[in-house]
Amino acid sequence: MSLYTPNDYRHVNYLWDDAKASAMNPVERLVYRSNILGADQRVTNTGGGNTSSKIAMPDPLTGERVEVMWVKGSGGDLRTSKQANFASLYRNKLMALQGFYAASEVKGVKSPIEDQIVDMYPHTVFNLNPRATSIDTPLHAFIPFKHVDHTHPNAVIAIAACADGPTVMREIYGDEVAWVNWQRPGFDLGLVLQETIAANPHIKGIILGAHGLINWADDDKECYELSLTLIEKAARYLEAHDKGAATFGGAKVQSLSRAQRDAALMEILPPLRGIVSQQNRFIATVQTDDTILRFVNSQDAARLAELGTSCPDHFLRTKIKPLYLDWNPQSEDTVALLSKLQFGIEQYRRDYAAYYEACKHPNSPALRDPNPTVILIPGIGMVAFGKNKSESRVTAEFYNCAVEVMRGAEAVSQYVSLPRQEAFDIEYWLLEEAKLKRMPPEQTLARNVVLVIGAGNGIGKSTALRVAREGAHVVSADLNLEAAQATANDLMKIYGVGIGVAGTGISGCGPAIGLSVDITNRQSIQNLLNQVILAYGGIDNVIVTAGVFVSPDKTGHISDDKWRFTFDVNVMGGYLVADEARRIWQAQKLRGSLVLTTSVNAAVSKKGSLAYDTSKAAANHLVRELAVELAPLVRVNGLAPATVVEGSTMFPRDRVISSLVKYEIAYSEADEDNTLRAKLANFYAQRTLTKVPITPDDQAEVAYLLSTDAFSKTTGQIFSVDGGLHEAFLR
Ligand SMILES: [Zn+2]
Repeated sequence: MSLYTPNDYRHVNYLWDDAKASAMNPVERLVYRSNILGADQRVTNTGGGNTSSKIAMPDPLTGERVEVMWVKGSGGDLRTSKQANFASLYRNKLMALQGFYAASEVKGVKSPIEDQIVDMYPHTVFNLNPRATSIDTPLHAFIPFKHVDHTHPNAVIAIAACADGPTVMREIYGDEVAWVNWQRPGFDLGLVLQETIAANPHIKGIILGAHGLINWADDDKECYELSLTLIEKAARYLEAHDKGAATFGGAKVQSLSRAQRDAALMEILPPLRGIVSQQNRFIATVQTDDTILRFVNSQDAARLAELGTSCPDHFLRTKIKPLYLDWNPQSEDTVALLSKLQFGIEQYRRDYAAYYEACKHPNSPALRDPNPTVILIPGIGMVAFGKNKSESRVTAEFYNCAVEVMRGAEAVSQYVSLPRQEAFDIEYWLLEEAKLKRMPPEQTLARNVVLVIGAGNGIGKSTALRVAREGAHVVSADLNLEAAQATANDLMKIYGVGIGVAGTGISGCGPAIGLSVDITNRQSIQNLLNQVILAYGGIDNVIVTAGVFVSPDKTGHISDDKWRFTFDVNVMGGYLVADEARRIWQAQKLRGSLVLTTSVNAAVSKKGSLAYDTSKAAANHLVRELAVELAPLVRVNGLAPATVVEGSTMFPRDRVISSLVKYEIAYSEADEDNTLRAKLANFYAQRTLTKVPITPDDQAEVAYLLSTDAFSKTTGQIFSVDGGLHEAFLR
């Protein structure tokens, strides 16, 4: 097969750079090759595929040169893999496993020995490399060439999912590529590949039916170029047969306008998230671009969606099939859509339970969450769900892959999905279950969306960091947009942006977003919440730390405007946020929590803060009123800090100085802000029972705890975090 030259590729990105590769050792070159293959989603999906190189290396014990197979291990993604993601195994020991396998009386695909042999892989580990090797190891080990790429390219899976795949394959590749029928990856598939190559020594690669591509070469650059050439050839063939406007049978309905679509999404996303989240909460990713709309609007969408996805990587996330809603955006309203959603999901759960019952084995793991993870809505697009933003984005990406596969297959033949039993045997594979069982327990606020208002600094910022540490998705909101985004960026520096930032149509936010809001303006709050709904599908907890302290003038007087402003922010603001969030909570029907930040000043009257103290006393009662109003769905509690000077915008330099003057504490005009604040904080600390300064982190800890199930039976209460001020004791 003649390989394309770098400039020939139109359907994949040619990324090999000799200058880079020549400076690397063989293992580094494997990592490099893997990264550039994974960088192009047309080559392989996120987390999909694996690569290997068989490299001669000195044995750490004997010094003897041995052949070591480096192969991408379990978990991780080709694009981002480092050397640590690769397992290293003695090739001769891997080959010796064939004898172990042959000795088993019962063998073959899905026989117990296939799973048992996985426990033998640790006996083949070279140099104590702790990376667990993957189930695909035999696919690489038994191929008698140095370098092997196994990928999941949409263009090739399209051929692999055709009713007459082998015929189409021969049209594209002649006899240089062989076909192996679908079988679950494992030891037996490795042996089948070995036999296929032995019987057809001239072949360059194999199409794995309903799965993907595997190809090899003795030179790594050649292996990379061969992978790209095989994919490019398939993509060109599909392009030549593209059905254009008749793709998927042509359009059945039209897309809604952007404004109509967004309005519909605002209406349906919270109840939809609520319905699918009855057992476990899910985070949504919405896709509304032309690519997905062409599919969901089409004549064939209902038929193809019902067939389900093909590549095993895809349906582990998308489930065997999506929920397609037979809703006509031109002739039906969103009330009809909502009732179809409710009915459709109930039917989906019944179908899923029936599929489980029909396919289960005596030792199958228990039925998993039966809700759809992909929902297709004509005129609007796709909503994908996952346990976190990363997972829902990857779910969306995988269904896009499935759509591409169906488009290609239907252009040249007829799309066929994997038989239900085969899909089940992957989905409920005991090895897959063992992998799930090994996962660490979920964090306290995993699967939760927490909106922190005032997150640009001080207590709000500390709270955003605190809840993120417990697995929350954080909406960092602040009057100051840059400060809000800075907090969100800080969070993503710590926790990463997640995986699966896919095509332009998929909402690309990570586990945190920074948005602006003016809580004295109802419209501004609505805009904020609409963006949250689009980003995550809904909301679970709201923590308001935003507040304002307006200093009186030199005579101790506060103007009427400043009185009003103080109440607008500290009282009306909290109310408006609660009132707008209430609509989402009620639509979701999921329990939530609201924390409003008040102040110990609400209970302690003192000179110089008349408007502030009065507003905070009102805020305390607002907590109690809202607790009554929002029960039983939402718990409402108040956090009452005192004298948090560190990092607070409520203590600007002039207020700190006037306090120092008031309390006759020595200071110098030359002192830095932090020095002045520390003096004041220490003075305040001495007035408390615990005698230590109170920090934003102290407040954040309680704001976090009040949002968790630790306080699931507590509502309408005010929690002072003030170091112990007896004059603030509630009576
Ligand atoms: Zn695969």
